[in-house]
Amino acid sequence: MILITQLLYLDDSYQKEFKATITNVDNKFITLDKTLFYPNSGGQPTDIGTISKDDNDNNDNIEFKVVFAKKQGADVVLELETEDHNLKEGDSIKGIIDWNIRHKYMRYHTASHVISYVVYKETGALITGNQLGLEKSRVDFNLENFDREKIKEYEQKANNILKQNLEVSCEGMPREEAFKIPSVLKLKNVLPPSIDIIRIVKIGDLDAQACGGTHVKNTQEIGQIEIIKAENKGKDNRRIVFKLK
Ligand SMILES: [Zn+2]
Repeated sequence: MILITQLLYLDDSYQKEFKATITNVDNKFITLDKTLFYPNSGGQPTDIGTISKDDNDNNDNIEFKVVFAKKQGADVVLELETEDHNLKEGDSIKGIIDWNIRHKYMRYHTASHVISYVVYKETGALITGNQLGLEKSRVDFNLENFDREKIKEYEQKANNILKQNLEVSCEGMPREEAFKIPSVLKLKNVLPPSIDIIRIVKIGDLDAQACGGTHVKNTQEIGQIEIIKAENKGKDNRRIVFKLK
């Protein structure tokens, strides 16, 4: 049987609970037919939360903690805290994600789009890597040099954009059409040729970026950012570390 987990978070990043069917159980690793749990990937850490049997007639619907979600081929595999559980293939389950953590990542993630946009616009630099965290996040750029004076300017420009109440929207676009937008591929060396429809995330009319992560609806939800560090990370690699204020 070919299993492809449907990624519910791509349709609605604000959904906190979902129902699904278990398609595979391997000790503490559970695969579902659909999921809200974002799998650790692309610099955005895993969602955590709980799943339990969705069975109204039964009172022993114990909640099992989901401690990690990872991509495995086209599927998302959830790792439970324990292999001592009563879940089996075919079971209907209810899943709940830890919303506080997810929403923080959504804010950091969308903020990283805005910072990348500013640096790209000012310098033409592409992103070579990024890692979101709950306390701070970082974005790396293929830049020869950071003009120290400019860092504050980037921060200010990013904050001006964030203040603007811009709508963040997503749409699927055919590959060829998407690639005509200059800003779409700010991340170096991604998107295998097998992907025909590309998910484009737009910040107002300012920026369009190919991305499969979770974002807030409006830049105002992010608040303001502070760049706390700008450092050299090897030849042609410069890192910006920022936090949400
Ligand atoms: Zn994104």
